[in-house]
Amino acid sequence: MQGEAKAKRDSERTVEAIRSGDRVALARAITLIESAKPEDQARASDLLERLLPLTGGAVRVGISGPPGAGKSTLIDQLGLNLTAQGHKVAVLAVDPTSSRSGGSILGDKTRMGRLSSEPSAFIRPSPAGDSLGGVTKTTRETIALVEAAGYDVVLVETVGVGQSETAVANMVDVFVVVAIPGAGDELQGIKRGLLELADVIAVNKADGDNVERANRAAMEYRTGLHILAAGQKNWDPQVLTLSARDNRGLDELWAEIRKRFKALKSSGALDARRAEQAVAWMREIFEQRLLAAFKGGKRAARHFREMEEKVRAGKMTPGAAAHELAHLAGIKDHE
Ligand code: GDP
Repeated sequence: MQGEAKAKRDSERTVEAIRSGDRVALARAITLIESAKPEDQARASDLLERLLPLTGGAVRVGISGPPGAGKSTLIDQLGLNLTAQGHKVAVLAVDPTSSRSGGSILGDKTRMGRLSSEPSAFIRPSPAGDSLGGVTKTTRETIALVEAAGYDVVLVETVGVGQSETAVANMVDVFVVVAIPGAGDELQGIKRGLLELADVIAVNKADGDNVERANRAAMEYRTGLHILAAGQKNWDPQVLTLSARDNRGLDELWAEIRKRFKALKSSGALDARRAEQAVAWMREIFEQRLLAAFKGGKRAARHFREMEEKVRAGKMTPGAAAHELAHLAGIKDHE
């Protein structure tokens, strides 16, 4: 009982510390939600519950694009512009490779050197964990934490090469794809799936000798997007050119993000979208927990391996094996 009272006091203290802008408390809380230990998860969950009323106040922006497109240069500069205007900016860098390689290609603070020493900015790598669900869970919860800490702009960065982009697009309000002028067919440089997520395409490196090529690339994106967007309501992506290096076009990019955010807000679409995102989030966590609970049992784990082997060996179809597992888990078919 005493332990419980202490845990409650600790939680209350953490909430206060986060609210008052204590960065160490915020960083610790994020580490807590990233932890896979059951006791940490219980504490994290309690903390999030308490912070929930303080969340939701930020513009959530996803920033994606292939490696080398200039995402970190752009975030560094945009972040500086925004903090200079009085915004509090949090940057979460989702690194889909971090769990496998042990190293990190994102999230290195030196990539956003100037912004990382800015007192109104908070930069944090968001490890992907073992699954795509891992990206979603920790990054979403981290967004909630930084919002509770008073950050009013949240930039979620992801490398546009994996599956995490869709997950990130589903947790932000506006999704920006950073592209660069290249040789040949511009649309080849970026996967169609990524383009389809974009609200804004920012053709970067429009400077020096590149200006002409950047303008041409922007034209090609406009044409390509026009075809992609044909027949789709509520999707009207915008293409801009800019130079993150020279800080040119970034105010226009921010104005476009704000415009879209405001439009979503005033039409009520923002609330609806966030509500749907929250429901999808719940569903995902539930599915993961179900699977984890089932696989956690010794017998079930053995069945799983058996079915996997049968499917691998072509002795059973994936559908039949999945049915068999569902049956073993006590899930009945619909009548
Ligand atoms: P990221 O991998 O997408 O994060 O790309 P980086 O921000 O690390 O940039 C990749 C390279 O492009 C670096 O050498 C940057 O200096 C350079 N770069 C980024 N933005 C610009 C820009 O606006 N103009 C030019 N000329 N180079 C840029």
